[in-house]
Amino acid sequence: MKALRLHAPGDLRLDDVAAPAPGPGEITVRIEAAGICGTDRHLFRSEFPCTPPVTLGHEFCGIVTAIGDGETHIAPGDRVTCDPNIACGTCAQCTRGRIHLCENLCAIGIHRDGGFAEQVAIPAHRAFVLPPSLDPALGALAEPLACCIHGVDRGAPLPGERVLVIGGGVIGLLCVQLARLAGAHVSLLTRSPDKRALAETMGASHTAATPQAALAECPAGYDLVLECAGVPDTVVAAPALTARGGRIVVLGVLAQRAQVSIEPFDLLFREIDLKTSFLNPFTQGRAADLIASGRLSLAPLVSRTVPLSRAAAAITEPAAPGDIRVMVVPD
Ligand code: NAP
Repeated sequence: MKALRLHAPGDLRLDDVAAPAPGPGEITVRIEAAGICGTDRHLFRSEFPCTPPVTLGHEFCGIVTAIGDGETHIAPGDRVTCDPNIACGTCAQCTRGRIHLCENLCAIGIHRDGGFAEQVAIPAHRAFVLPPSLDPALGALAEPLACCIHGVDRGAPLPGERVLVIGGGVIGLLCVQLARLAGAHVSLLTRSPDKRALAETMGASHTAATPQAALAECPAGYDLVLECAGVPDTVVAAPALTARGGRIVVLGVLAQRAQVSIEPFDLLFREIDLKTSFLNPFTQGRAADLIASGRLSLAPLVSRTVPLSRAAAAITEPAAPGDIRVMVVPD
């Protein structure tokens, strides 16, 4: 079968490899759609640790083709999404329930073969069933959605609160929808007029192109700011956009070793809670259920699809302007 494998930083190739067979407790999945995430570009450029040679792709959806030894809730023919993060279950963090902070975390598509391939083998307990009628490209959004659910859980918006989402990529636009479902008034700060217009169709009641415009809309500051741009400027801007007693959750991944300047006195004097949100602990199933419910607007987040044979270029080149999520599909 074909698989898009990272052999070393800067060396991504479409290889012919043996199709995987499911080991004990595993299933194999025929890939229908796999999303290209910014992390894939970071992996290619060696800006994020991984263990090459490895088949990339950690956001995917497909059909179960075979079941290994052992009982499982999955059956051949099921459409599934995969939580790519495999925790050891025994380290100090896992035994406290913090599986996303597992000291031995192994991620499918980063440390073991992932979904930019015709098939993948995954642990059955990392698979979550989706409806047979679902567009697989929407199913492949379950992983980023699961990360957003964790971020919104961390921020805990209340009905009627004012929430500002910064960054109108897939993460920001999913957070807009989750905060709206929680009953908050949601604003989005992002520079692109197209993304602002899209956010308004997804429940944002106000959008802004600059921090100044976002603050003008809510001069006392927002109860909750969800930072989803992942750049230093927006992290620095977040405290001034947050109300007294408010919360900031940083979901955005800044470059390793990037530094920002924050005034601790201001955070303390206005008792602003500054948190981060990492990965998707116990939220992939909720994401799958939410996608199945049809309550989210997901189709506009899929900008285009590329065949597996041409996916390397889509990963090695910078994201095209206007792209939100590009899906890799089998040829
Ligand atoms: P993305 O497509 O790059 O979206 C980020 C958006 O931020 C861009 O579309 C850009 O839109 C906006 N932006 C950039 N600079 C800005 C600025 N100065 N002011 C306002 N908006 C700005 O990325 P994504 O896939 O949505 O992911 C967002 C972040 O979350 C990334 O850092 C990603 O690595 C991270 N992430 C975190 C987790 C987690 O578990 N915490 C999981 C997945 C992804 P405009 O051009 O419209 O400004």
